[in-house]
Amino acid sequence: MPNTFESESRKLLGRLRDTMASQAAGQERLDQITHLTADSMGTEVCSIYLFRDEETLELCATQGLNAESVHQTRMKLGEGLVGRVARTGKVINAADAPSAKGFRYMPETGEEIYSSFLGVPIQRLGEKLGVLVVQSKEAREFSADEVYALEVVAMVLAEMTELGAFVGEGAALRARHTQSVLIRGVTAQEGTAEGHIWLHEPRVVVTNLVGDDPEKESARLTDAVENLRVSVDQLLAGASGDTEQVQVLEAYRMFANSKGWLRRMEENIDRGLSAEAAVEKEQSDVRARMLQATDAYLRERLQDLDDLSNRLLRILTGQGHQTGAELPENPILVARNIGPGELLEYGRQLRGIILEEGSVGSHAAIVARALAIPLVINAKRIQNEALNGDHVMVDGDQGVVHLRPDDTVVSAFRDKMAMQAKAQERYASIRDKPAVTLCGKTIRLDMNAGLMADLPSLESSGAEGVGLFRTELQFLVRSQMPKRTELAALYARVLDAAQGKRVVFRTLDIGSDKVLPYMQAQDEPNPALGWRAIRVGLDKPGVMRMQLQALLRAANGRPLSIMFPFIAQYEEYTAARAEVDKAIAREKKLGHTLPEKLEIGAMLETPSLAFASNKFYEEVEFLSIGGNDLKQFFFAADRENERVRRRYDTLNVSFLTFLEGIVDRCATTNTRLSFCGEDAGRPVEALCLAAIGLQSLSMRPASVGPVKHLLRRCNLDDVRNIIQTARDAGEQSVRPAVMEYLRGLT
Ligand code: PEP
Ligand code: MG
Repeated sequence: MPNTFESESRKLLGRLRDTMASQAAGQERLDQITHLTADSMGTEVCSIYLFRDEETLELCATQGLNAESVHQTRMKLGEGLVGRVARTGKVINAADAPSAKGFRYMPETGEEIYSSFLGVPIQRLGEKLGVLVVQSKEAREFSADEVYALEVVAMVLAEMTELGAFVGEGAALRARHTQSVLIRGVTAQEGTAEGHIWLHEPRVVVTNLVGDDPEKESARLTDAVENLRVSVDQLLAGASGDTEQVQVLEAYRMFANSKGWLRRMEENIDRGLSAEAAVEKEQSDVRARMLQATDAYLRERLQDLDDLSNRLLRILTGQGHQTGAELPENPILVARNIGPGELLEYGRQLRGIILEEGSVGSHAAIVARALAIPLVINAKRIQNEALNGDHVMVDGDQGVVHLRPDDTVVSAFRDKMAMQAKAQERYASIRDKPAVTLCGKTIRLDMNAGLMADLPSLESSGAEGVGLFRTELQFLVRSQMPKRTELAALYARVLDAAQGKRVVFRTLDIGSDKVLPYMQAQDEPNPALGWRAIRVGLDKPGVMRMQLQALLRAANGRPLSIMFPFIAQYEEYTAARAEVDKAIAREKKLGHTLPEKLEIGAMLETPSLAFASNKFYEEVEFLSIGGNDLKQFFFAADRENERVRRRYDTLNVSFLTFLEGIVDRCATTNTRLSFCGEDAGRPVEALCLAAIGLQSLSMRPASVGPVKHLLRRCNLDDVRNIIQTARDAGEQSVRPAVMEYLRGLT
């Protein structure tokens, strides 16, 4: 690049910095920038267009166009050349603008006399803020260096916007991060919470954009990159196996050593940017590429590069959560995504969680559910909108986030929370009472668990025991396969905490949506129907054997209940059971104490098992209906697929009839039966399950109170009659009739 241009660019940046440092009001600063830029680029016009709302751009400052049109001229996203730059996020460089595609004539600005047009997006880390334009009468295409210089000005503008440099009296912009924002996401764990934002990855704000001494800036960059390399190497040394984490770290290392990456940042410094601004400019380019990338692999790698740039920025600016940084009061965690281990580290301190991405079946969602922390996922833009410490209300029931809510929202939301708290008090008052219906039937209510953190709920929820302990959670939250001794100690602690209450340990249920980070992921066309749960356990019995042994050791003479997941046919049960027998024989030989009582059951999660032979029903010691899986297979509707997962009602008469058939079979063979899918925790569903004869339900701890409260007010004979009437009438679902009945309750 010619030195003359470099010094021009540097001069412009220097003058911009003076503008930034000046005491001028917001509008004046914007005006100065247009003036400086036009002057430095040798163009007649320089204009700044900023977003008024998501769809509308407004001319906010101009040098060269009609001054009267400032704050008057507006255009829609995609409209005219400016709108096109805003929509696509791409530069438009046209020598003959009036004949360029999409040109729109705006008489109020007097722009028809300008021939060439260069428009660059004003964006900060992928967030679009507006468009910066220069125009000149002379028909010429702008050089690559000129484009670069304008992009740098746009970047400075974006940073200044972030820093609130353009707000104030008669200003062009309202202050960012001050308005209330409503973000609609998806519910991943119900519940409501009010608190203050804690950004898992706090945004780094670059205040020092211009570098006077390129050598010094370059040395700072080199030091920071070296620092980064060392830290990535250390992380790699601490990770082990061929895990996803290792793969990501290796990608980090590759990028951290990439000459191209460093060179591009060095070039930014040569052109007058500070080291941190040079990193951020490169990061912005990466984000722009990420938005365009359609290939999933490429997008992931660009994501890695983006993460790496963040780390580098944190090293350079010293920003980010330092160890010991304090969580705000009632912290609500905001992250793009978060791993289960990291989430567990925050633990119950969190009041709520908001993720920009995530999925209902993700490990983070599993942990949030275990901890009963309201979780909203797919909350688009939350990371851009939220600042550390912002007031926020999380409505996990509706999947909605109210960021910096106004007074009316605050009071409505607090009313809702107060009502929920009142309900909680009601539930607490019946905690130690049994779930006896008006017709005198007692329903056993157990809770589902999976983490040590769940166990205190056994006491507080009033559950009679743990009807389902999902052992895979302990495997999912680790980065390495747990050892037998670790597992034995953990299961022993679970049994200790249960103080003699029954705990049903379900053996490892992996595959489908639950992929262990340290196991080779199977690329299956249809994972829910694939190699999962007991199928993995029987085909590769090593882990199952280790787990069975750990369970026997943990019991150390105490009663033990083991349940196998996803049994689809009798032989799978007998084969799994044979593994238990082998484990017992081995323990005996080694002289270990055997459980005083051992019961072995199976989960009924595939329709096939509903039709298994009587022999199976007689042999199995207990059955638990995994309604989540059973329902997805009954209706052929993927439980993870947002488009279909709520399509079929659990209270569909066909499904209830099917379940009733299982209840009847168990009654004939005298097989203990329970239901442990999510529906057991939904009061209306639980009521209908009880009405068709299920006497034992296992649910999230928070559901025990609401379910018990409803059961105690209902007569199951009435509900059974309602179901029968709906069936006779050919209704699709019994819900309307049951709701009618509930409305009539006092
Ligand atoms: C179920 O399928 O209903 C169940 C309880 O198991 P999971 O949700 O863990 O698959
Ligand atoms: Mg299941």
